[in-house]
Amino acid sequence: MDELEKIKKCFCAFIEGSLVSRDIDKVTDLFTEDIMGIGMGAQGVVRCKEDMRPILLNTRSDVDSTQTSIQYSNMQIRYYGDDYANICATVTITTETRGKLQKSHIGQCASLRRISGVWKINMVQATPLSVDIQEIDAYPLSFAEDEIEKYRMQEQFSNIMRRNVIATYKIDFELGIYEEYIPTDKYSVPVEKGDDYESKVFKSASEMLDGDAQLLFVQTFSIGNLIGNYQSGQTDVTLDYESIQPDGKRLWLRSNMHLFTDIKGHLKGYLYLLDIDRQKRQELRLTQQAELDLMTSVYNKETTRKKIELAIELYSMPMTCAFFMLDLDHFKQINDTYGHAKGDDVIIQTANILKSCFGNDDIIGRMGGDEFCVFYTGDSHYEVLAKKAEQVCEAVRNIHPGSEDGPGTSVSIGIVRRVGNESFDELYQKADKALYVRKAQQGRNGYTIYESISSDK
Ligand code: GH3
Ligand code: MG
Repeated sequence: MDELEKIKKCFCAFIEGSLVSRDIDKVTDLFTEDIMGIGMGAQGVVRCKEDMRPILLNTRSDVDSTQTSIQYSNMQIRYYGDDYANICATVTITTETRGKLQKSHIGQCASLRRISGVWKINMVQATPLSVDIQEIDAYPLSFAEDEIEKYRMQEQFSNIMRRNVIATYKIDFELGIYEEYIPTDKYSVPVEKGDDYESKVFKSASEMLDGDAQLLFVQTFSIGNLIGNYQSGQTDVTLDYESIQPDGKRLWLRSNMHLFTDIKGHLKGYLYLLDIDRQKRQELRLTQQAELDLMTSVYNKETTRKKIELAIELYSMPMTCAFFMLDLDHFKQINDTYGHAKGDDVIIQTANILKSCFGNDDIIGRMGGDEFCVFYTGDSHYEVLAKKAEQVCEAVRNIHPGSEDGPGTSVSIGIVRRVGNESFDELYQKADKALYVRKAQQGRNGYTIYESISSDK
């Protein structure tokens, strides 16, 4: 089917759907989300798809008890060879009520837009019956343009009121420039009308963001990427990031780009810059709380597993990490001798020792009771691991040195180096085996490295 046929089919499906069929969902499926209805008179104003529904329902109730047929005459289609088309026709509606025929005529005009290859109705208008091909090009569209622009301004305004917008920018992607800039807060990034869009994106990223966030920001808001998003039907592109403001303040921002094509078919966007600092920090706090072991503030068991599995995916280079499993020695005796509260304190102090012995990139978790593990991402040469383990053992011994009053605290550690592509479960199993050997055969209060006991090196 050629494009003219498709355009006609969409138009006729709309006319027949709204006047004859009872399937409103099918009719509204023919509309773009931001369909405009012009000259809808007493039926109301149409600014979006949902507005069309009551109008269609009203129209149908008029024809409920009748047989209705539709004829078209003077149909004219204006197709521009791109994603826009206009069509108009005189529509003759013949209704038959109890054998009595009645004919009525309307002029119907529609603008269509092709979205992801499918023609949709973007504007409908009842027209004078005499509209000719020149007029359909000029008349409905120029009329619609003003209306659409008003609508967009209105939408933009309500967005500013509704959300924490600190600035709004309007961008013309065809020309690659800023068209408008409405600041509402001192933290917005100022632009001038006519400034080059992509250089500004690049500049703001390098000024406000560090590391990977910079790259992600530039990629997300590059014109090429946005065009791709729009073509695949995604009209809103959103990115949250922690920005560094000129005064050094760290502020969570959300950039929300709303994409649309203007009446001439040019891709444009409204970029809303939102301050989401409060909500983001709250969210982060809640997530962090859910991830942590309440007593020690190291990761809980489930999160430890998740974080380590994620780290394993990222660390494709073997020999750069090691897995430690730790279990306090004769901890039951500590509880029995000094009481449960003292036992708790020993567990907390052990977690603190791990926090101070390992770095920010290492993953420390409490796996339950008196058992901890660490995914260590630093230098994992044998001597380094041995030194780390010895440092931990020494510090745990110092929590409560043994005396005549009772047993002292100590810990046993099983360590495995990640030399291949071992999964979390494999590492856990091997470290557990090394820990078992230390506890059962080598007299606790020390560490054992898996490679020293395994035969499958
Ligand atoms: P082993 O040297 O073989 O590890 O001996 P153990 O006594 O430490 O034995 P095990 O590790 O199996 O026992 C852990 C004990 O830790 C059992 C439990 O009563 C105690 N425990 C578990 N969670 C807590 C806690 O949150 N607080 C306190 N105070 N004790 C706990
Ligand atoms: Mg124990």
